[in-house]
Amino acid sequence: MDPISPLEQALHAARALVLADLVAREVAEADVVSLVEESVVQRRWWVEQWPEGAEFLAGLVAQDVQDALLERYGRWPLCPVCGTGDQHALEVEPELGPDPHWVCHQAGVKVAAVGALGGGGASASS
Ligand SMILES: [Zn+2]
Repeated sequence: MDPISPLEQALHAARALVLADLVAREVAEADVVSLVEESVVQRRWWVEQWPEGAEFLAGLVAQDVQDALLERYGRWPLCPVCGTGDQHALEVEPELGPDPHWVCHQAGVKVAAVGALGGGGASASS
C-alpha cells in the first residue's frame, strides 16, 4: 500500500491546477477555496468508482468550480480574448477527457491549459 495512491495524487493535482487558475483570476478567497474542496470530495468518490477517470479530474473539478461560482459570483473565468461584446466565460474542453483546456467558443481559440490561466505567454516562447 502506497502512502499516497495514484488516485489521491490525481486529486491533489486537479485541486492544485484549479486553485492556480482561481489565483490567476483573483478569486481565490476562502469560500471559493472551499468550493474546490467540495468538488474534490465529490470527485474522490466518483473516481473511486471509476479509476480510469483519474486523468479527467482536472477538467471535471474545473467545471464543478465554474458551476458553483456561476451561482454565487457570476461567470468565471471571463474570456480574455474577446475585447468586445458580451462578457462570457471560457469553457473546459474536453468536458470529459485528459489534458483539459480553457477555450473560447466565440473566438474559437484555446486560451490556456487548465492550471495555466496565469501562465503569461507560455505560447509566446519557443
Ligand atoms: Zn471569448
